Amino acid sequence: MTEKDIIKFDTADPLAAHRRQFELPADMIYLNGNSLGPLSTASKHRVREVIESQWGNDLISSWNKHQWIDLPLTVGEKIAPLIGAAPGQVLCCDSVSVNLFKLLAAALTNRKSEHAVILSQQDNFPSDLYIAEGLINLLREHGIGAELRLVDAESLEDAIAQSPDILLLTHVNFRTGALHNMQRLTALAHDHDMQVIWDLSHSAGAMELALDDCQVDYAVGCGYKFLNGGPGAPAFLYVALRHQANLEHPLQGWMGHRQPFEFKPDYVPDEGINQLQAGTPGILSMSALDAALSCFEGTTAAQLREKSLALSEIFLSRIEGDSTCKALTLVSPREARLRGAQLSFSHSDAYPISKALIEAGVVVDFRAPNLLRLGFSPLFLSFNEVAKGASILKQIVSEGLFRNERFSVRAKVT
Ligand SMILES: *Cc1c(COP(=O)(O)O)cnc(C)c1O
Repeated sequence: MTEKDIIKFDTADPLAAHRRQFELPADMIYLNGNSLGPLSTASKHRVREVIESQWGNDLISSWNKHQWIDLPLTVGEKIAPLIGAAPGQVLCCDSVSVNLFKLLAAALTNRKSEHAVILSQQDNFPSDLYIAEGLINLLREHGIGAELRLVDAESLEDAIAQSPDILLLTHVNFRTGALHNMQRLTALAHDHDMQVIWDLSHSAGAMELALDDCQVDYAVGCGYKFLNGGPGAPAFLYVALRHQANLEHPLQGWMGHRQPFEFKPDYVPDEGINQLQAGTPGILSMSALDAALSCFEGTTAAQLREKSLALSEIFLSRIEGDSTCKALTLVSPREARLRGAQLSFSHSDAYPISKALIEAGVVVDFRAPNLLRLGFSPLFLSFNEVAKGASILKQIVSEGLFRNERFSVRAKVT
């Protein structure tokens, strides 16, 4: 791949113009949009407007005047097309962890037997496992038999054949970027009378998703990764229409009540997806996410997917076959269609390499114990940047530039 080829890719890129919607520092190659998406100009302006004009001038009247009260639903409806959901099934609220608790609890009310079994993957995102474990402990304390069964990816299909109650999976593995076949696993789980919860944290905003077509039961996903909602942006959840009528979940807060401003002592859930709200939404951060979602206008999920995979292939083509990079081992699937929008490499010095890259302006992250992780966000990265990032990594590894003490000091967040 020559420099000319790279220029051709950028010239032909239908998403190239979207870069200007983001406020990335000059000379920074940001390969970490999978962890924290960058600031969009739209979010910056919106948050300023919400603070100065809405909160500042209109104060409490803004709940009606600026439709703050409807934001969880309106933002949910903007996320819906990105995940293949028809209207009325997506809500923006809380964190992924809290939403998962609500949905797991709701799904467990439909369990088949006295002993509830949640099946998940050993290397799922830890917070998802902690939440499932916490819920199971709570059930057990109340004398209800419950179990979290963890298997590796290879054993999933055999474990599904044992017909547990719930299948809880993350679509794209946060460490390796390995992508599950949602259609196949959901259908298989349904054959065994299970309900399925997908975590879309590393998929939404980076690829085609078809929750309705796959007949997924429930899903959760993250607002601050590929959706660029900002640090701690609220998450989203999906409940298929067919499950909404008989839903029960334990975090019954007033915002999920049918008539919150009647202030009645008894809880009556709202109809539809809104019953999954708990407390008052964080309007500042939800507004930032709402505005960031406008950056997806004029794009298709197929374009996003195609570009992110092409970016990662360019990166790989620069590293592969280079004898000086032999110590970097690709742990992501080599076949593009089997991975999400990231590449991970193992290396015994992955941490100092990540720090040296960041100092050189190539922002990546490190995942313990030995992974270097790079995200290929299709909305704002250029092919030229990605090729340059690969060259800088090559130089840092081949010249041992990471072998300086200052690169080994562990920060609290990696
Ligand atoms: C990022 C991420 C989360 C984040 O959870 P929060 O509770 O919103 O912090 C959850 N699950 C997965 C798979 C993630 O990648």
